[in-house]
Amino acid sequence: MTEMETLPVLIAGAGPTGLTLACELARRSVRIRIIDKSPEYYHGSRAKGIQPRSLEIIMTWAWRKHSRKLE
Ligand SMILES: Cc1cc2nc3c(=O)[nH]c(=O)nc-3n(C[C@H](O)[C@H](O)[C@H](O)COP(=O)(O)OP(=O)(O)OC[C@H]3O[C@@H](n4cnc5c(N)ncnc54)[C@H](O)[C@@H]3O)c2cc1C
Repeated sequence: MTEMETLPVLIAGAGPTGLTLACELARRSVRIRIIDKSPEYYHGSRAKGIQPRSLEIIMTWAWRKHSRKLE
């Protein structure tokens, strides 16, 4: 059996949604592979600000990292 056949999760799309899902699954030790139809990253800017919900998710990552240091 090839590695691809044994991977539990295949994420299609390496944008913020796919990469956030990848981080959350990796944190839970779920093996993943990310594929994207585009051969390269978008070179422009799509980030003038961080939306509140995105900020909430990023803050949970920061809190987990900080709380691990306190243990
Ligand atoms: C000009 C502009 C400015 C913006 N500014 C901000 C901002 O300041 N703050 C903010 O929070 N948001 C901003 N946004 C919105 C933000 O970019 C989107 O909310 C965010 O990119 C959505 O992420 P996503 O992963 O869902 O989709 P996308 O970023 O579109 O990523 C989807 C990925 O999936 C890939 N894909 C698509 N179909 C397939 C397929 N069939 N198989 C494999 N891969 C596939 C694409 O190539 C792409 O890489 C802006 C958007 C634009 C256009």
